[in-house]
Amino acid sequence: MKPGIVQKIFKDHFEAYRKTRVLGRRRYHAAGNIITCRTSEKGYHIEACPNGDYEVLMHNSCKHRSCPLCGSTETQLWLERRKRQALDCRYFHAVINMSHDLRPLWRYNRKVFTNKRYHPGIGKES
Ligand SMILES: [Zn+2]
Repeated sequence: MKPGIVQKIFKDHFEAYRKTRVLGRRRYHAAGNIITCRTSEKGYHIEACPNGDYEVLMHNSCKHRSCPLCGSTETQLWLERRKRQALDCRYFHAVINMSHDLRPLWRYNRKVFTNKRYHPGIGKES
């Protein structure tokens, strides 16, 4: 999708859309950020090289998590970081839920708890 297309849709249609329904404060806030992201309404900063050879005025981004202009960059960076961490083979990523009451015990006995969790039969009397 072309960058800025969602922002244009919001700019062109959000006002009419919001008149047809009641929106919560958070949705209204998100739409406002998307509409004004990287425009003069968000202010600006100057990016310059230390030698003074290059200087450019850049409008500030909104940094709202729902903004596709901001979010897509962050999402791509996050994805690249995850890809660098990924093992070069097939594997499973397991998430284990545990009661909050057990967390202090887990923290100080990680090896014992991990072995019990992954190998629950070990240590059982038969
Ligand atoms: Zn933004």
